[in-house]
Amino acid sequence: MTKDFDHIVIGAGISGLGAAHFSARRGLRTLVLESSQRVGGCIKTHPFAGLDGFWTEAGSHTCFNSYGNLLGIMDDLGLTAAVQTKTKVGYRLWKDGKRRSIGSALHLLEAAVSLPRLFTTPKDGQRVADYYGRVLGRRNYRDLLRHAFQAVICQDADDYPAEALFRRKPRRKDVIKAFTFADGLSRIPQAIASQERIEVRTGVHVSAVTPDADGFRIDLGDGTALTCAYLTLAVPPDQAARLMPDGFTAARQTIAAIAMAEIETLTLAFRVSDLQLPPLAGLIAVGGSFYSAVSRDFLPDSTYRGFAFHFRPGELCPKEQVTVACQALGVDPRHIAAQGETHNRLPALRAGHASVVDQIDRALAGSRLGITGNWFLGVSIEDALTRSRRESDRLFGPETKALG
Ligand SMILES: Cc1cc2nc3c(=O)[nH]c(=O)nc-3n(C[C@H](O)[C@H](O)[C@H](O)COP(=O)(O)OP(=O)(O)OC[C@H]3O[C@@H](n4cnc5c(N)ncnc54)[C@H](O)[C@@H]3O)c2cc1C
Repeated sequence: MTKDFDHIVIGAGISGLGAAHFSARRGLRTLVLESSQRVGGCIKTHPFAGLDGFWTEAGSHTCFNSYGNLLGIMDDLGLTAAVQTKTKVGYRLWKDGKRRSIGSALHLLEAAVSLPRLFTTPKDGQRVADYYGRVLGRRNYRDLLRHAFQAVICQDADDYPAEALFRRKPRRKDVIKAFTFADGLSRIPQAIASQERIEVRTGVHVSAVTPDADGFRIDLGDGTALTCAYLTLAVPPDQAARLMPDGFTAARQTIAAIAMAEIETLTLAFRVSDLQLPPLAGLIAVGGSFYSAVSRDFLPDSTYRGFAFHFRPGELCPKEQVTVACQALGVDPRHIAAQGETHNRLPALRAGHASVVDQIDRALAGSRLGITGNWFLGVSIEDALTRSRRESDRLFGPETKALG
């Protein structure tokens, strides 16, 4: 029987949009179903109401020229020429109520003695605390690195798998090293989603997924149903476990055991004249109620400055978060020009995660079901797209020619 779509993707974060892009390039009729009202997931450029289009990033803020799959998609969409250089500004530590230099927490002698171990210490299968404590020294890990890593992954870093934190990838020399766009990173998911060859439906609740002859039936919250020959789940692991069709019981249990870290993000904007703070990339918190703050100073605006504070969940009420953030910025809360709140989520991976991925892949082998996300290789945008590309190649075979 003819299916409604060749390929349905559930989830319109970068993983799902990448999966849709790769199948649409192959000429497949592709539909993306997203439960929220917007595409992009953790890529969320937040425009402040009433501030003349001034924005800050409430999630992802930087892409690199080592993001080969992302750059391939950007090439397809004519976006590569539009990348925006980021002004170089440094991070500061926020410790014991003071902003301090990164160097103040570094134990140089210990780093020099430990560093040769970089060439002999295996990374795979190690906890972040064990691996980096060894190659840069225990005190460097305790006083600096664990906080810097927590700032990146917005969760406690000690038990995270070392190999999932930073992956070496080849760089593209024709693209600047670190980039954004003049209107922020949301340009990327929006451009993928607005291609004519991909249909995207937002605000859709998927109630059940059932295998049917040569494909799947997707039941929606409004009582209607859709059919497809291939399905890709591109949602966080708790949702993927809920949506796993019958026949994948063991994989469902494996996926359900992957935890998520919740992050309460507070975005704040101020008039430039109301802040004494010198330009900075952001704050790495050493202890305290937030992991990190990321500023918009990488793309200076003549009127406003913006910040995203990533708070631990459930510790402070919104008013207390504002007080803590303003204290860290050295500004009176009465000067806030606009503010917003975002709930971010990232997977809380654990050492040994590669064997979890192996189990999932063994269960999926030979099926028409793909699963992608930032919970396979690592949380960076490129890690997510690398998984989407691999799943696309598994389901549909490698792309043999550019379809344009
Ligand atoms: C604060 C922060 C800063 C970051 N900074 C960077 C950075 O600078 N550079 C970088 O490379 N990476 C960064 N990352 C990581 C990166 O942004 C994410 O890992 C990546 O965007 C995740 O994409 P995803 O599609 O896998 O997941 P998500 O973005 O979480 O997307 C999942 C999508 O599925 C939808 N969904 C969930 N359940 C359902 C359902 N039942 N039905 C339908 N849809 C559903 C969600 O609404 C969402 O749109 C950052 C992340 C955070 C949170």
